[in-house]
Amino acid sequence: MRYTPARPTIYGETLDSLTALLKEHGHPAFRARQVLTWLYKKRVKTWEEMTDLSRPFRTWLAATFELEPTKFVLTKQSEDVTDKLLLELGDKSLIETVIIRAPQLGVGQENSRKTICISTQVGCAMGCKFCASGLEGLKRNLSAGEIVHQLIQVCRQEDDRTPRAHAELVSFDNLVVMGMGEPLHNYDAILRALTILNAEWGLGFGARRITLSTSGLVPKIKQLADEPLGIRLAISLHGATDEVREQIMPINKKWPLKELIPAIREFSEKHGRMVTLEFILIEDINDSLDQAGKLRDIAYDLHAHVNLIPYNTVEGLPWKRPSLTRQEKFAQVLDRGGVSVTLRREKGHAIDAACGQLRLKTEKAREAAAAN
Ligand code: SAH
Ligand code: SF4
Repeated sequence: MRYTPARPTIYGETLDSLTALLKEHGHPAFRARQVLTWLYKKRVKTWEEMTDLSRPFRTWLAATFELEPTKFVLTKQSEDVTDKLLLELGDKSLIETVIIRAPQLGVGQENSRKTICISTQVGCAMGCKFCASGLEGLKRNLSAGEIVHQLIQVCRQEDDRTPRAHAELVSFDNLVVMGMGEPLHNYDAILRALTILNAEWGLGFGARRITLSTSGLVPKIKQLADEPLGIRLAISLHGATDEVREQIMPINKKWPLKELIPAIREFSEKHGRMVTLEFILIEDINDSLDQAGKLRDIAYDLHAHVNLIPYNTVEGLPWKRPSLTRQEKFAQVLDRGGVSVTLRREKGHAIDAACGQLRLKTEKAREAAAAN
């Protein structure tokens, strides 16, 4: 299940690792910054475009590194506010990167706030019963460079549309690690990738505008709490009691609420900021007012924000979202209990934005085409 490309991608290198490698091969150390500027500020697609580097040095780079670890396959745009990029990796695996636009009153589409959602694995091993990403298990981890390159692809899309491109700016406002995969199950790669995205020599993207979502790998949440990188944390709770949670999330058997909740508290106290509890509302599974009350108590106690997400139907799965009235009643219990709560309106339903669905469909279409 491991994929080792012929050459490692340069997008997995940090300033330190690249400098060390250059020195080792007799190249001047300052070249590292030059190369990184071409990658992260100019976002070039070929070594040839790096015109202030000597030809022999460019030849060495090309022989040592792969430049483009992901290939753009297609964009799917929904009528509402979501764009989805389907990317192909070196081993032909597919991943999804989503651009969510939040329109702002009085401003044009190009000025809307943009949130990017990135994937961290091909598939997922956690097997949550409601999720398209987990349906076929884990195929493999993404490398740090494959994770980083998703943002380069996004920037290039946006560069083509907005005049900000040449100002060497990043044209999105928030980054959420909520695509396919369980990020804390690929800990070293996601941490390296976020470090690269955050670094001033990388994309220079603020850690406070990055949110990582996890299904609750307790030891890794504790490890993350000790990292200096100050990213935000979201927890996929989806059940306010062990009975309900373990019915839909097998991980709850390994790390039940009595272990998960103290880990969330530890993270929150070390970082001094609110953690978000995500709660997908699924009809007759977790949408009772009793669950709402228990969720209110957990959130109040943790001083956490609650994000209620009406379930997106997944082809082949029986689950449904509750009626709007029921969703609102659930939210009211939290709100009246003094908990900060948002009831998310669906985004991207029309293009299968629920994680993993576009990939699954494309793979099925490919299989069908191969069989014909
Ligand atoms: N593996 C991580 C991050 C990726 S999933 C995690 O589980 O937190 C990102 C979010 O999408 C999670 O909260 C997940 O539960 C939710 N999700 C998965 N399938 C969904 C669906 N069909 N409808 C709505 N949300 C879904
Ligand atoms: Fe994996 Fe998250 Fe989907 Fe669960 S919800 S299967 S952890 S991607």
